[in-house]
Amino acid sequence: MKSLLMIMDGIGDIRDGNRPTPLEAARKPNIDRLAKEGSLGLMHTLGRGVKPGSDTAHLAIFGYDIFSEYPGRGPFEALGTEGIHLMPGDIAFRANFATVDKKMKITDRRAGRIESASAKKLEKYINGMEIEKTKVIFKQTTEHRGVLVLRGDRLSGRVSDTDPHETGAMIKSSEHLDTSAEAKKTARIMNILTNEVHKKLSNAPENLERIKKGLHPANMILCRGGGEYFKVEKFEDRHGIKAACVAGGSLYKGVAAFIGMDVVHVSGATGDRYSDYFSKARAAVQASKDHDLVFLHVKAGDSFGHDGDHDGKKSTIEKVDKDIIPMVSDNFDLIVITADHSTPCMIKGHSGHPVPILAYGKLVRKDGCVNFNEYEAAKGSIGQIVGEDLMQLMLNWMDKNNKIGE
Ligand SMILES: [Zn+2]
Repeated sequence: MKSLLMIMDGIGDIRDGNRPTPLEAARKPNIDRLAKEGSLGLMHTLGRGVKPGSDTAHLAIFGYDIFSEYPGRGPFEALGTEGIHLMPGDIAFRANFATVDKKMKITDRRAGRIESASAKKLEKYINGMEIEKTKVIFKQTTEHRGVLVLRGDRLSGRVSDTDPHETGAMIKSSEHLDTSAEAKKTARIMNILTNEVHKKLSNAPENLERIKKGLHPANMILCRGGGEYFKVEKFEDRHGIKAACVAGGSLYKGVAAFIGMDVVHVSGATGDRYSDYFSKARAAVQASKDHDLVFLHVKAGDSFGHDGDHDGKKSTIEKVDKDIIPMVSDNFDLIVITADHSTPCMIKGHSGHPVPILAYGKLVRKDGCVNFNEYEAAKGSIGQIVGEDLMQLMLNWMDKNNKIGE
């Protein structure tokens, strides 16, 4: 029994007056055929009314406890970045190149939208630094973005961001968030790092050249989402099934790597609106040959939601319907389509509205629903579930769950 879990990031929405949601407005005959043959419901990923982050929502859906098994955003980004191999105890941050003036005020949060190739050349000034016997690992990922890892003894993820999250603000000093010696040491290292990195980047020939050309120098890195990496029980040990991940974005690959899923590399899966869905579908089918479950992530709907772009969100759904569904519906016995959270165009951000869920397969009851959208899903026979119910339901639809008692 091969099963597919497709998560359409942020796809849930709400009607804006009389305007239907993107799921209601989209022409999606293939998805709706699955809806007709299967059943629908609503999922409150982290609980009723709770506004989820993408990282915690995915963890909950995969059956992990977000209070004791969530390492923070930084470790996920690092785990999803090629060439970085985390060790337990490492502290990882998301980082981006930025421009600061002489008073350390941020004048551009993305260093003049520095392109990937130029940003890559600055990696060497940071990667390999050593502060208080702690090794600094830094990798540029895309454009101004990167990942920073601290590796050493007695460190803690309980430190605040150096990123003030707004242009025109001063860079922040990292503060310890508890009174442990580890947190104090880590905050101290981060503050030394901020100063050292600024010095090195300010003098880097690449940046002097940028100034000459009238470009913003990438003379600082802003760090956020710090957390300590630790190991958790593998997905296969927890649920008794082997899983693979097909995703473009590093966060999603990182969550999958964290729980021990096999992460499939797909060229063309970029994690943005230009992602090649056809290749992703093909990779999912390929991965199903030696895995019981394939997690397929589609990011674009969420990005369009953040932009308030209703048409963009609608076209993402239509593209999924055309490029992904025909191929997967011929090759999987169980298909579940849902989202990690809603990103309503009206809100331009995540919200606590439950997401629709569709299940299609031989062991799924047909419930008479015909259209996969938020409003029809409220009438479906799956009812209203929370994120942590999903794996149990899927195991049942796969007939892979254990009997309780005799
Ligand atoms: Zn998300």
